[in-house]
Amino acid sequence: MAHKTGHFHPEHPKRLDAIYRMLDRDFGEGLLCLQANPAPMDRLEDIHSPEHIQRVLQTAEQHVTNLAPDTPVSEQSYMAAWLAVGACLQGIDALINGECSGFFGLVRPPGHHAFANRAGGFCIFNNIAIAAKYAIKKHYLERILVVDWDVHHGNGLQSLFYHDPRLLYISTHDLMLYPYSGGLEQTGSDWGAGYTINAPISRSMTDNDIIRLYQSILMPVVRNFKPELIMVAAGFDAHRDDPLGRSVWTEAAYAAITRLIIHAKKTVGDPPIFLSLEGGYNPRALANCVRSVLLELIKNSVEIPKPPPANEETACLIEQLGKIHSQYGLIK
Ligand SMILES: [Zn+2]
Repeated sequence: MAHKTGHFHPEHPKRLDAIYRMLDRDFGEGLLCLQANPAPMDRLEDIHSPEHIQRVLQTAEQHVTNLAPDTPVSEQSYMAAWLAVGACLQGIDALINGECSGFFGLVRPPGHHAFANRAGGFCIFNNIAIAAKYAIKKHYLERILVVDWDVHHGNGLQSLFYHDPRLLYISTHDLMLYPYSGGLEQTGSDWGAGYTINAPISRSMTDNDIIRLYQSILMPVVRNFKPELIMVAAGFDAHRDDPLGRSVWTEAAYAAITRLIIHAKKTVGDPPIFLSLEGGYNPRALANCVRSVLLELIKNSVEIPKPPPANEETACLIEQLGKIHSQYGLIK
């Protein structure tokens, strides 16, 4: 909440305020709440350059400055970024140690646009990348699936594991929005070839279209990859009320994708699920979306409705994805 970005910036403390009030109102004592501690410095260095970390720390106690043209920071922003990573590491420990089977990092700033050496797109440290690397190094995980349903492409997250088959990155996003990357043909390279799956979506895709798309990707990928941990870059800016995304999803889409993930993971030994907040800039819609996802996690149902028929555009995208990835064998 102390990460102040200015009155007119969409990545605003009101986002978390709306979520916290929703949690108090709708969940009460029903969730286990972890208090975040700052991440150890060597965990930040697993992903970020010492220069980038220094740049962030140097903003401490400065009134207002910018880490990137779109990423303003204030006195306490460095601490918020540091705590956001720390929260995600605590989530990994809690999941792997079996304290809980699902974790949601309700953090600011978001992370999926942060690169090894630079901030951007409102992101300072790459929360999910650092947490994934921690799960690999500390807990010896070898197969992590990341689902990025934020409407923007997670360019930083993709770049950090583009050559690494231990992290399979799936992203749905609008190519016409920042950062304008994430084409179908970006599929990973070297040992990581085939372990990046980009599905550029169109703005007119309805909940049914998006559910059908996720169903066609998630089911085979989870079956073939057998993740030991599933992580979600949980941005909610594809919601129809979002001021930055131009899509028309409702909270039901996020709930349905969550249920698909739950259904799929139960077929491969039920690995834990980790979510961390990315975008979502209408505070009310954001809180409603988070609530829908949490309710699905609590319900933990494996029942999934019959796949809705895909419209022509969605069917075409599913077919293209199948073709491009056929050589890798993960989507079939
Ligand atoms: Zn976003």
